Amino acid sequence: MNYNVNFDSFDREHLWHPYTSMTNPLPAYKVRSAKGAVITLEDGTSLIDGMSSWWCAVHGYNHPYLNAAVENQLKRVSHVMFGGLTHDPAIELGKRLLSILPEKLNRIFYADSGSVAVEAAMKMAVQYQFGKGRPHKNNFVTIRSGYHGDTWNAMSVCDPVTGMHSIFGPALPARFFAAAPQSEFAGEWMPEDILPLEDIIREHHDKLAALILEPVVQGAGGMRFYHPQYLIEAERLCKKYDMLLVFDEIATGFGRTGKLFAWEHAGIVPDIMTIGKALTGGYMTFSAVLSSEEVADTISANPPGAFMHGPTFMGNPLACAVACASIDLLFKEKWQERVKAIELQLKEELAPAARFGSVANVRVLGAIGVIEMREPVEMARMQRRFVEEGIWVRPFGKLVYIMPPYIISSTELRKLTTALIKIVSE
Ligand code: PMP
Repeated sequence: MNYNVNFDSFDREHLWHPYTSMTNPLPAYKVRSAKGAVITLEDGTSLIDGMSSWWCAVHGYNHPYLNAAVENQLKRVSHVMFGGLTHDPAIELGKRLLSILPEKLNRIFYADSGSVAVEAAMKMAVQYQFGKGRPHKNNFVTIRSGYHGDTWNAMSVCDPVTGMHSIFGPALPARFFAAAPQSEFAGEWMPEDILPLEDIIREHHDKLAALILEPVVQGAGGMRFYHPQYLIEAERLCKKYDMLLVFDEIATGFGRTGKLFAWEHAGIVPDIMTIGKALTGGYMTFSAVLSSEEVADTISANPPGAFMHGPTFMGNPLACAVACASIDLLFKEKWQERVKAIELQLKEELAPAARFGSVANVRVLGAIGVIEMREPVEMARMQRRFVEEGIWVRPFGKLVYIMPPYIISSTELRKLTTALIKIVSE
């Protein structure tokens, strides 16, 4: 295997990669192409994809059906402003979203990335309270170990430790943080779990517009799966104290946790929900904020009579068209059966890792498998070993985790888990 062609010196010198040093960057492998669940590097090395490119590529790469949706739309119009104009892809996507989301969430704001959706959701909550004559209710409470994106307000509600508040904290709006729920997803509900949140809300509700959290699965803040009862209790508190409930389903949406959306694990419908990532099947950046009629009407009925947000690429036709195709494909390809099969296989094949002394915990939910190590991993070395073994996995901190595309075959998945276990055991 010739590694040299897999690394580009221009890239190394000039291109910033995510969370990476510019003076001493971690290696970035050059991709020639990708198809299905396989990423091909410049030198021809094939890697079985364990990441779905950070939760997005649920149908795998280079899918003919999604390609056709983009190509067809490209011939009509790739982008027009959404201010004063509209188009079929936006309307069709809206109809599809309403058909798969709870009835209450029937007002849709299209945005251009997950972080921007979170910004817009937070602004909606503040504007809603403003419209209700409660302008003092303009802050947020959230739970620790969360992740909501890298823009300013999104970052303000990320876990203070993993969200780098040590650097940015003094410049960020100060939010309220409750201890993260400790009751495990499939374990016993411990009623005391809600008390830290209840204490904060009881004391500070006059300042709080909303509670924002990732329902059931906390992603980049720690890959934790918590008990759905927490959402039931959280909703009760929000109702009691005139706060909105905001679910960030950007990572959990579109089947990843075994339900189409994670709210379904608890049956609790929020007032505002953000979606993104797999919305376009991983083809391009896009997101949406869904709200109840009550939220939208309150914002619209009060000065300035409009929701004050409007990104340039809002409602981008290419993104809407591929999102429509991606949603159709999910159902055509029986996402639920596929995710269930991946879950069963992950449970069986990742279990041996629990016996390693270096491993603290192994957990699986839906098409997400997590091996939590006792110590942070040596990223560059582990990454190289993954590539040598023909798999693509990108750990962070103590977490070695996979969330493969739903189209992965059981043989490909076995190769992925076998190599993963081998490397973790090293
Ligand atoms: N919220 C959650 C739950 C996420 O996982 C992410 C992305 N990892 C975001 C928001 C931010 O999305 P984006 O990276 O598209 O801005």
